[in-house]
Amino acid sequence: MSKTRILIALLLLLSGNHAKAQFNTVSRPGNRYKVTVENPTRTTNKAEVTPESITSENEKSVPDKVALSSTDTKKKEQVARYLSVCYPLSSVKINSPYGYRKDPFTGKRKFHNGIDLHARSAKVFAMMQGRVLKVGEDKVSGKYVTLQHGSFTVSYCHLSQIFVSQGQAVLPGDVVGITGNTGRSTGEHLHITCKFNGNSIDPMLFLKLIEDTQQSCVAALTVL
Ligand SMILES: [Zn+2]
Repeated sequence: MSKTRILIALLLLLSGNHAKAQFNTVSRPGNRYKVTVENPTRTTNKAEVTPESITSENEKSVPDKVALSSTDTKKKEQVARYLSVCYPLSSVKINSPYGYRKDPFTGKRKFHNGIDLHARSAKVFAMMQGRVLKVGEDKVSGKYVTLQHGSFTVSYCHLSQIFVSQGQAVLPGDVVGITGNTGRSTGEHLHITCKFNGNSIDPMLFLKLIEDTQQSCVAALTVL
């Protein structure tokens, strides 16, 4: 499975969320850069003017009010994009990465199918919009929550408390539970497992996507 394919899928997933966020703000998907004309009669264009007929290309020929509204729209878009992702914890510190490592219980070389984040009774956030696929408890994962985000699933393990139930819709930033030390765990931490079409992938891809998305939004907002 190629990393590029997973990244493309992640980006598509994110753009899907973005499109949904747009419905709640001002523009429509596929109509992102068109501006809203609050008073069409103020324009000098003799042809019939509808909001759809004015695009960012002829922005300079329309009144100031319209240009302002365009900047406003772009700002709202960036804010919506920023909020379409959320780190799983308010403070992210990686204790153990994805890949082969010495098993903390047996001391033998074993594949670690997720990442371990440092946590102390911390709120666990949904990283993207999605739904709760499963809520459960077993000897290995302890109390866990699995979220579905398109073709991806994300499991949060060793929780002490769970605040969501199966089938529930989640938005980025929703608190799904509280970290703990349940199951096969040597100390409190948050273990995150991510899967793409059922195959485990490095959750760092998600964390990187969140970082890149939020950084690019901040950069775009500073020049608007
Ligand atoms: Zn782990």
